[in-house]
Amino acid sequence: MKIKDSVWGFVVGDALGLPYEFSTRNMMKENPAIDMVGYGTYNQPPGTWSDDTSMMLCVLENIINKGTTKDLAQLFLKWYKDDYMTPHGELFDIGITTSTALNNLMRGVKPSKSGLSDEMSAGNGSLMRCLPYAFVEDFHQSVFKMVMDNRITHRHHLCSLSCMYYVKMIRAILDGKEKQELCSIAAAYIRKGWRLTDAEDDHMETRKIFQKLFDLNFSTLPENEIQSTGYVISTLEASVWCFMNTSSYKEAVLKAINLGGDTDTIAALTGGLAGLYYGYDSIPEKWINQIANPDLINNLIDKTNLSEQYLD
Ligand SMILES: [Mg+2]
Repeated sequence: MKIKDSVWGFVVGDALGLPYEFSTRNMMKENPAIDMVGYGTYNQPPGTWSDDTSMMLCVLENIINKGTTKDLAQLFLKWYKDDYMTPHGELFDIGITTSTALNNLMRGVKPSKSGLSDEMSAGNGSLMRCLPYAFVEDFHQSVFKMVMDNRITHRHHLCSLSCMYYVKMIRAILDGKEKQELCSIAAAYIRKGWRLTDAEDDHMETRKIFQKLFDLNFSTLPENEIQSTGYVISTLEASVWCFMNTSSYKEAVLKAINLGGDTDTIAALTGGLAGLYYGYDSIPEKWINQIANPDLINNLIDKTNLSEQYLD
């Protein structure tokens, strides 16, 4: 089942990267990640997944239930206030943009307006949850819904364009496209999809920001040209670059973590691509067996079977 390959690839990447979040690249070079470890940044046991997976699972549940943007906002609040969709029944990390937006919601701001729209708020908080939209049969409708749902927390157009690039890449893998075609397919898609987002007339400026990803030789760039911060563009670049420059699931997610920076999100997004491309069986069993609260994840994946809108 394709969604299982991708979701598990994502969750395992998140859990592998979590203990290293905020490590610098130099620190990772001195002491590279080679296996699943625990504790570190948030002092959580091995196999603990983070807000990335919690929010991604909320999106998946909302899609299964054919929920609205308002319903999704309620699921995010349930996570924020009541520890819903957490690995050990307790929320332990959340991004600043997301928490500010969820506080806006709690004050009664509408979900279409609660997200932050300034450039400083173009973080990876909506990119990290967008994976499930790629699996809905009506892709165009799903992307439209994704852009609306993004507004709950992230209203900057760079966030929606980055999500569009990522889900198109996932979709192209589902469609059986060759690995070397994936970047140009995703780039062509967001060039056409500009109008779906809140992008204003500064197309030239936005094009400049996406220039690296639009370059046909993007995947051959040297590592020192790839940043790995929580800025949405660098997270997207790093995830795609790690997937393109490796030839197995394990190699891809470890490369992502060893860039340092926002290691959980970058490894999760890399893992979503690599899990789908190489398959569930390519994910080391030892890592899968360490993941916290696996029933929560598998029960949701099983429910996608019930829905005809999913690709098998
Ligand atoms: Mg996280």
